[in-house]
Amino acid sequence: MKQQLRVGVIGCGAIGKEHLRRLTDVVPETIVTGVADYFLPAAQSAAEMFHCTAFQTGEDLIASPDVDAVVVTSADPSHAAYVLEAIRHKKFVFCEKPLAQTAEECQQIIAAEQAAGKKLVQVGFMRRYDRGYMAMKHAISSNEIGAPLMIHAAHRNMSQAPGFETDYAVTRVAIHEIDICRWLLDDEYATAQVLGVRQSSRTSGEWLNPQIMMLTTRSGQRIDVEVQTDGAYAYDIQCHVVGEDGIVSLPDPTSVTKRAAAAIHTPLMTDWKDRFIEAYDIEFQEWAKSLLNGAPTGPSAWDGYVACVTGDALIRSRQTGKPEDIVLPEKPEMYQ
Ligand code: NAP
Repeated sequence: MKQQLRVGVIGCGAIGKEHLRRLTDVVPETIVTGVADYFLPAAQSAAEMFHCTAFQTGEDLIASPDVDAVVVTSADPSHAAYVLEAIRHKKFVFCEKPLAQTAEECQQIIAAEQAAGKKLVQVGFMRRYDRGYMAMKHAISSNEIGAPLMIHAAHRNMSQAPGFETDYAVTRVAIHEIDICRWLLDDEYATAQVLGVRQSSRTSGEWLNPQIMMLTTRSGQRIDVEVQTDGAYAYDIQCHVVGEDGIVSLPDPTSVTKRAAAAIHTPLMTDWKDRFIEAYDIEFQEWAKSLLNGAPTGPSAWDGYVACVTGDALIRSRQTGKPEDIVLPEKPEMYQ
């Protein structure tokens, strides 16, 4: 029989349930053996649905001899502690973004992983597995558009859960653009800035919406990201990389085009779960295969750290009104 990885999932909310279904139905290399959630009935109901054990705590799940690898899909503030605990047990851990709440916590994770002497951590930047972004990356790295000069990107959301805050536009939303743009350009950031813009009357709370985020890279490229966190016409992700010889653009997801009533109509998506469903599937298939081969090959703790440092600089710039420098220590050998 094919070797299988026994996986435990901490956090049985929206994406936790999606990943449980994915690990059960879409990834033949994984079997879910345990779940945990702050709210025990949520874990019990998931355990019933996916025929596995409901652990009292995330720590119990991590320590279990029936769990080879851990998936962290709990709320943002809990991520770092679970990742550190998994590393302490020398277990592989997939952590949904963000890796941690602060750059300092990310550094602790990097230090722990290096002390363990083995790559154990992968961060959930699933866009790197989206076929559109992968095709863009291929076109850029094979010099099809010449030297890349700039990126124009947009992240538009229709709504947010109650309790959303201005900073979450960076830490929960634009964090995907922060990761994907440096991956596409294969460069690190130099500065970050948030620009003000006329505010949307469609925002359902008190946070700033939209925001424009500007990044520069060490080689001088400029990235502008329009972030609409609420009230947009659809869940719409746009990305255009402008090179010296041409442009590559993220394709829209495939959908039926209707011609009727003297018009052409193409529906757009409304939900992130549907927009990146295939990317999440490929992300977990690749994760499982890489672990069975000995180590994760996807976005690393270093990538989680850089996203956090960049996010901090963006948030700082909203307060200072100026571009903020992004200063990184030398990248450890493990992440080269
Ligand atoms: P959610 O629906 O609120 O689910 C989170 C679940 O984790 C809830 O059941 C919550 O229980 C539980 N929880 C909270 N703190 C916990 C802790 N310390 N230990 C165990 N369980 C805990 O949120 P979500 O939308 O699924 O998001 C979960 C994580 O995934 C977030 O970090 C988010 O940023 C990330 N995410 C990533 C993507 C992506 O595109 N990659 C998309 C969506 C979400 P209570 O309800 O009792 O607090």
